[in-house]
Amino acid sequence: MSLFAVHYHELGLKGGNRRRFERVLVGNCEKSLRRLGRRFSIRSVEKRLLVSIEADDTDADRPIVAAAFDLLTRICGVAHVMRTLELPRDVDAVAAAIIAEFSRREQPVASFRISSRRSDKLFPMLSTEVNREVGGRVVAALGIPVRLKGAAEDVRISVLRACMLVSLERRRGPGGLPAGTAGRVAVLMSGGYDSPVAAWQMINRGCKADLIHFHSHPLVDKTTQEKARDLAEVLTEWQYATKLFLVPLAPIQTQVRLHCPEPLRVILYRRFMVRIAERLARGRNCDALVTGESVGQVASQTLENLATVDHVVDMLVLRPLIGTDKQDIIARAKRIRTAAISERRDQDCCQLFIPAKPATASTPQQAALAEEPLDVDALVSQAVEDTEVISFP
Ligand code: ATP
Ligand code: MG
Repeated sequence: MSLFAVHYHELGLKGGNRRRFERVLVGNCEKSLRRLGRRFSIRSVEKRLLVSIEADDTDADRPIVAAAFDLLTRICGVAHVMRTLELPRDVDAVAAAIIAEFSRREQPVASFRISSRRSDKLFPMLSTEVNREVGGRVVAALGIPVRLKGAAEDVRISVLRACMLVSLERRRGPGGLPAGTAGRVAVLMSGGYDSPVAAWQMINRGCKADLIHFHSHPLVDKTTQEKARDLAEVLTEWQYATKLFLVPLAPIQTQVRLHCPEPLRVILYRRFMVRIAERLARGRNCDALVTGESVGQVASQTLENLATVDHVVDMLVLRPLIGTDKQDIIARAKRIRTAAISERRDQDCCQLFIPAKPATASTPQQAALAEEPLDVDALVSQAVEDTEVISFP
């Protein structure tokens, strides 16, 4: 058996809210760990989850233990995860377990420290006494030096009411809130870096994210659709079930190119995108649209242009990356594992019929005037009708 302690931030979680939050978190851990193909169990013990997995500390099982550790650090709402031993409340037993663990290491342990915390304040020893007693026994048995700063091994002991937990390796999780605790949003997701990260950030605040992708097939190839599917698959690892909507934009783009002034094209595409997204979102009971825009990143993303786009929808439009630098977005894309997909070359719908001089300062009035030759409602309805829906997994 391998045991992990899964911690979540409880700050800001009040009373009954914490119960519900923990219930969803346990469900999400179950969905995630099912991918291991091993038996496991999850218990809630004094504000943490204890996850035991049918896998031993043997060469054969080591990849399973490593995979479990990885999966647990990739669950929204998890602050950190530790590989843990559950022991009786007895310093001798705890010291013996640490000595056994250190002795098994292939590389000798260069230095260590013990940090204990008592959740059970009635335990007869103080934390500092536990540190000293356990540390002393390890030094006596193995001669490994204690280093309070920069120790090679930081051993954390939690004194609970029923047991002591000894944690050996600690990894950060994504933090945030468990997916599925905060309503539903519809994300306009291209094949680029930004919008999948925006989707993830909403998922990591507890939202379920429907994904809406616009493509220009058959005017271009299907690379962006393939990227959208692959991105949906990665995001499904974080929210466990995803609906992807593939919307054909080519008929609209053709009309815009034929009838509307060139500098406004990209803004007009965007206005159609949000109109269609709003229709799809209402059909799914979403409370908001989400995009990956950040101010000033490209010509179309000026404040004026964002306002011109928002003018045509009657739904909250969220832009979680509005103030984020591209470098930080790409770094996050790497951590959540969308980057490798986003960096693939594609034929994006916005690169099609792109104006030589795109407008940076549009107004809703200009855009409305430019759209006058078009039957906007009919084009939107047709696109909604021709949308393909794919479910993951
Ligand atoms: P991204 O990296 O998300 O593509 P970007 O910086 O390239 O963003 P734009 O191409 O200007 O920015 O797109 C702005 C936003 O419009 C995107 O973040 C996304 O939310 C939405 N969007 C753009 N193209 C598409 C598309 N083909 N399908 C769905 N949404 C799109
Ligand atoms: Mg893009």
